[in-house]
Amino acid sequence: MPLLVMKFGGTSVATLDRIRRAAKRVGREVANGYDVIVIVSAMSGETNKLVGFVEETGPFYDAREYDAVVSSGENVTAGLMALTLQEMDVPARSWQGWQVPLLTTDSHASARIEEIPTDNLNAKFGEGMKVAVVAGFQGISPEGRITTLGRGGSDTTAVAFAAAFGAERCDIYTDVDGVYTTDPRITSKARKLEKISFEEMLELASLGAKVLQTRSVELAMRYKVRLRVLSSFEEMSDNAGTLVCAEEEIMESNVVAGVAYSREEAKMTLQSVEDRPGIAAAIFGPLAEAGVNVDMIVQNISDGGITDMTFSCPVGEVARAEKAMTDAKAAGDIAFAGIIADTDVAKVSIVGIGMRSHAGVAAKMFKTLRDEGVNIKVITTSEIKVSVLIDRKYMELAVQALHDAFELEKAA
Ligand code: ADP
Ligand code: ASP
Ligand code: MG
Repeated sequence: MPLLVMKFGGTSVATLDRIRRAAKRVGREVANGYDVIVIVSAMSGETNKLVGFVEETGPFYDAREYDAVVSSGENVTAGLMALTLQEMDVPARSWQGWQVPLLTTDSHASARIEEIPTDNLNAKFGEGMKVAVVAGFQGISPEGRITTLGRGGSDTTAVAFAAAFGAERCDIYTDVDGVYTTDPRITSKARKLEKISFEEMLELASLGAKVLQTRSVELAMRYKVRLRVLSSFEEMSDNAGTLVCAEEEIMESNVVAGVAYSREEAKMTLQSVEDRPGIAAAIFGPLAEAGVNVDMIVQNISDGGITDMTFSCPVGEVARAEKAMTDAKAAGDIAFAGIIADTDVAKVSIVGIGMRSHAGVAAKMFKTLRDEGVNIKVITTSEIKVSVLIDRKYMELAVQALHDAFELEKAA
């Protein structure tokens, strides 16, 4: 029997009525002759609420218990989706991550999927089950504890199931009808893309476009999963969505495919550190051990063997970064005069594989920001992206200006 994976995000299962609408889509695919694995998120707002409860218990909570709590939202929607399908006479059964089992590493709150044995579900499909509804975002560690895959992780659950079961397609149903040139909430000029390459989607996701979790794109690229993003709100007929696919499948594309942003960034500067071999290792080693996700790094010019080191990280990790640095100083591993934390910055990035063969893209980005009076604090580039750190209050303005400057509202 051909098999599809259909994933419904938080807004698509936010109420029983929405679950019913999603179930109808699933029922239609069953009627088309497919077995279906449905991956569900928690109802929208639910995971945030659970995270809030955990954080209220204290600042240094046990990540294993965090996972036990925050994974629970998905259990509710999985059961409700199975019940709704049964009501529609579609043979369906719900599965929590551990029951499948979805085996992960033990890095709680950001576990990676190791393996998904297919025997249990396949046995049930063999007995006439038409739909397996699986709770997204969760798995089980080698010690047998519940793990979660990081925020937005149901996307990754979906792609991993599609890869493991050789699904014909993995459809990600969400509250927008595809991947846009930028977040449609920031500018109404954002244009829906018919197709986007894995490479570009990977960059956009990792630079903040939360429509897909980064890891899900990585997996789709590695296992050649046909990945579609589409709306669960629109009528079923006019719902082509966006196909995430290999670069070769795309005939024409703009030099810049899209603009991404990440609002909650911080810029930290260690003042007056020694400019000597090993200093970067002495700083970024302890930061990595403390679980700080350092992104951009700049070392200033050295004056008399002394320099400043600047890096960016998510705002939520500033306290951890400060502690790691003060501890390293106390241990005598590094010396610095002070730490300055600027917690009011955001990162704005342009992404496009066309940049490989076009000069002047970065310069155009910088000129555009200059014309808007936006000061750039840090810059990083790769072959297919340019990112800048700017004051958070200019973030929307910068995204809109760049979208205009690169004429992203027009197709290539
Ligand atoms: P779900 O709950 O279905 O997983 P998410 O909220 O995680 O949905 O992701 C969908 C959201 O991603 C959209 O509502 C949109 O605001 C945001 N988004 C950010 N960048 C983009 C983009 N380039 N294209 C489409 N949506 C984007
Ligand atoms: N419910 C989880 C979250 O909000 C996982 C997901 O929706 O993908 O992060
Ligand atoms: Mg999501």
